[in-house]
Amino acid sequence: MKNLQTIVLSNEEISPGYYRMRILAPGYQQLAHPGQFVMFRVRRSLPPLLRRPFGIFQIGFLPPDCEGMPEKEFVELIYKVVGAGTEVMRELHHGDRIELLGPLGRGFEISDPAGDKILVGGGIGLVPLYMLADSLPDRSRTRLLIGGRSRADIITVTEFERLGVATHVTTEDGSLGESGLITRILERKLSKYPKAQVYACGPMPMLRAVEAICAAREVPLQLSLEALMACGVGACLGCVVKGRDHSEANPQYLCSCRQGPVFHSHELDWERLHASVEGKEQA
Ligand SMILES: Cc1cc2nc3c(=O)[nH]c(=O)nc-3n(C[C@H](O)[C@H](O)[C@H](O)COP(=O)(O)OP(=O)(O)OC[C@H]3O[C@@H](n4cnc5c(N)ncnc54)[C@H](O)[C@@H]3O)c2cc1C
Repeated sequence: MKNLQTIVLSNEEISPGYYRMRILAPGYQQLAHPGQFVMFRVRRSLPPLLRRPFGIFQIGFLPPDCEGMPEKEFVELIYKVVGAGTEVMRELHHGDRIELLGPLGRGFEISDPAGDKILVGGGIGLVPLYMLADSLPDRSRTRLLIGGRSRADIITVTEFERLGVATHVTTEDGSLGESGLITRILERKLSKYPKAQVYACGPMPMLRAVEAICAAREVPLQLSLEALMACGVGACLGCVVKGRDHSEANPQYLCSCRQGPVFHSHELDWERLHASVEGKEQA
């Protein structure tokens, strides 16, 4: 983990309200694993003062400016504008200075690299799944299921297809792909590939539904939680969730930023998780 003082290379709107930002990030190729995240801050002196967490979409290299010079390493984030921090981010341009703390947290574990994989993304939850798909050796056995409210929420699908991943899209309003929820496709795919491993990221109601489907079929599931967090390094304990063995007498709190954001579903207390995450969002 390092705190980089660095610059924005580009920042483009890719769908209404969704932006893709490329940031100069030397050393990330060596350091970052799929599923990890960064804490982003514009500058200490400017609001919002707190850093904001974002998943890493991909890491790449720009060709050198002149022969003999090293390639420039970059990290890409994709973000949805929802409040003060992301409003500031959307105004950034090439050359603007920013601060990047990371890579942080526990990423996805890949225990059977060549086996069937089903990746389930809800809206912006698709972000950490791209680096995961890119890291898999046999992407012909990887399927991406992506759901959103409408077509504007379905982003970067063609980039997964270019990796060789089969993609399936649903929208709630039927404006793109199949009409309805992505969990319906998950059930269909699990009937066809019952030994698949499932990886998911998205809003809590989607994660709960994915967990219920996987638990009923005894399918291994890893999921990335987007709990609200302030520090990203386990100091503020603002992002704790309850573990499976939690009780009043024997509290078990898991820090989303250090012990997650990726968890195996069996590590979490699903009865209480929904209530606690929803409670924090309303606070
Ligand atoms: C590990 C992790 C990875 C993330 N990756 C991405 C990503 O790749 N792309 C992306 O767009 N966003 C991602 N997020 C969410 C992102 O951090 C928030 O959207 C961002 O911090 C909002 O900042 P803001 O100042 O614009 O909004 P704020 O003014 O702080 O909040 C605006 C509204 O958004 C809600 N909100 C803020 N954070 C979250 C959250 N984590 N979950 C649900 N609602 C929230 C607030 O409750 C509020 O209603 C991630 C969050 C985590 C914890």
